[in-house]
Amino acid sequence: MSTVTGSVINIKGGEWLIRESEAADSFIPEDFQEEQLMVKDMCASFLDTEILPLIDRIDKLEPGLMPSLIDKAGQMGLLGTAIPEALGGLGKDFITSTLVNEGLGGGYSFSVAMAAHTGIGTLPILYFGTEAQKTKYIPKLASGEWKGSYGLTEPNSGSDALSAKTTATLSGDGKYYLLNGQKCWITNGGFADVFTVFAKVDGEKFTAFIVEKNFEGFTRGPEEHKMGIKGSSTVQLYFQDCKVPVENVLGEIGKGHIIAFNILNIGRLKLCAAALGGGKRIAGIAIEYANTREQFKTMISQFGAIKNKIAEMGIEIWVAESALYRVSKWIEDKEQELLADGKPFNEAALAAAEEYAIECAMLKVFGSEMLNYVVDESVQIHGGNGFSDEYMVSRAYRDSRINRIFEGTNEINRLLTVDMILKRGLKGRLDILTPAKNVAKELVSIPDFGASDDGPFSAEKKLIIQFKKAILLTAGAAVQKLMTKLESEQEILMHIADMVMITFHSESALLRVIKLSSSRGEEAVSFESDILRTFLYDSADKIDKNGKDAINAFAEGDEQRMLLMGLKRFTKTNPFNSKESKRRIADKLIALGKYPL
Ligand SMILES: Cc1cc2nc3c(=O)[nH]c(=O)nc-3n(C[C@H](O)[C@H](O)[C@H](O)COP(=O)(O)OP(=O)(O)OC[C@H]3O[C@@H](n4cnc5c(N)ncnc54)[C@H](O)[C@@H]3O)c2cc1C
Repeated sequence: MSTVTGSVINIKGGEWLIRESEAADSFIPEDFQEEQLMVKDMCASFLDTEILPLIDRIDKLEPGLMPSLIDKAGQMGLLGTAIPEALGGLGKDFITSTLVNEGLGGGYSFSVAMAAHTGIGTLPILYFGTEAQKTKYIPKLASGEWKGSYGLTEPNSGSDALSAKTTATLSGDGKYYLLNGQKCWITNGGFADVFTVFAKVDGEKFTAFIVEKNFEGFTRGPEEHKMGIKGSSTVQLYFQDCKVPVENVLGEIGKGHIIAFNILNIGRLKLCAAALGGGKRIAGIAIEYANTREQFKTMISQFGAIKNKIAEMGIEIWVAESALYRVSKWIEDKEQELLADGKPFNEAALAAAEEYAIECAMLKVFGSEMLNYVVDESVQIHGGNGFSDEYMVSRAYRDSRINRIFEGTNEINRLLTVDMILKRGLKGRLDILTPAKNVAKELVSIPDFGASDDGPFSAEKKLIIQFKKAILLTAGAAVQKLMTKLESEQEILMHIADMVMITFHSESALLRVIKLSSSRGEEAVSFESDILRTFLYDSADKIDKNGKDAINAFAEGDEQRMLLMGLKRFTKTNPFNSKESKRRIADKLIALGKYPL
């Protein structure tokens, strides 16, 4: 089996939690190939030359402007990176298409329009369409001639998407489905030509349909007035006996949920990529500002309080990036493996994303919260100017907020993270039971003092193992104690989700540093090591706090004492001067005057 970069690793979704991962197997951004980096650079210069100079006009929703910019992106091939060549795309690997999302991620409303068009606007037809549907729609979507959009949400069904009220009834002559209902918050809705719309056949069977803008009975509402991403078109869609030809049923009748949920897996990872691209640019703007603004006859970037913010931004961005491309490579490898087994392209792509649905949900949460942190502190670094619309950070602050809401709210994604792990455990797809039992046994045995491995980063490796034990201990005890009641104890699930998400990101950062140090030498990765160690030091406390809050919610007496003792053991860190470490990280970023990569 061939892959684009490096060796093939064969890890199941969620499996990292119960096994140790090898750094050599982990894909890191420093492994990008030349062609991939060229694509990323091309996206960056597209933003700089075609998008950012027009950003005020875009945000005023100047008629025709956004579609014309999507056309330009289409002319450069940026709309079809992941689409097979036979359907008018470039047929690139998953990592390259993720890099496009990252590269265009700093484009404010344009990024949202692009991501919606290439993701939820195109992928349902690409992955679930018949040959005829794909031939009709995909080349036009890949070139940008037609713009795509996705109508799932309704006024009374958002997170609970399957409770949609829009209906589809077969016409008397059997040639059409008549759609009746309303969709809301539809990105690109104001100018899109083709929509994937979900409706219930006979009010029951949740089904996807391809709707064209000229279909009789289809209308759209005016643009919403939003807090941010003001240049992104968001409208309601109305269906009044809207005539959709039967050949425009997408997938199977009653199987619309498979389309809705599978498309979201990929969307979540891509949202993280866009957040990463945005975060890097905004951090760069904030660092540049801090390097030019003087107060008390001192450049504000020289104040410890500001250095702390710059370092924290750098850490969050670097860690998010480490996890994003680790998962992207897993998806790419899985896709290649399934293709080699003879699976068709669409089935391979969908199954690969489903395999890593847990990780996609975590990336979405971490990436969107990273970006929210970066934009918030960037406004703070700008002081009063940060509150002015003259400065980009104020736009970034408003635009960033939506990321925690769409593609599944962060609450829903946190719940899903734990739910998927537990369900895979129950179904035997992921053996979490045995390691959870082993951790429980370890609690009553003599503690294991010190690291057996004394090689580079042995303490950090051990800490990750301990974090995993903390999760297995807490989640295992919660399941045992609460059984099916755990589902309704969402506060506990949220704590466990955070423990899982922090641990996954910690491990991704660790593997990146180890892999880098084995190629460059330990001294050459002091910046990255500082990032890793600071992140791990903070993560230990966060895991401890989340674990404690979870345990205290369901355990009492001896059991509670025992669990808390175990948790403390698993989250213990050595004293660490995080102030100095963060100063070193900040000093490097300040000297560079931007975020490095
Ligand atoms: C700018 C914008 C663009 C959008 N683009 C599109 C698009 O192109 N296509 C489309 O179909 N939709 C789109 N959406 C809709 C978006 O996906 C939904 O807003 C989102 O899924 C949340 O649904 P909701 O707004 O109904 O909130 P609700 O589901 O009502 O949620 C409200 C709050 O309750 C929480 N909550 C809900 N259920 C649970 C639960 N079971 N447990 C715990 N907490 C829960 C949520 O996390 C949230 O905090 C867009 C929305 C916006 C604002």
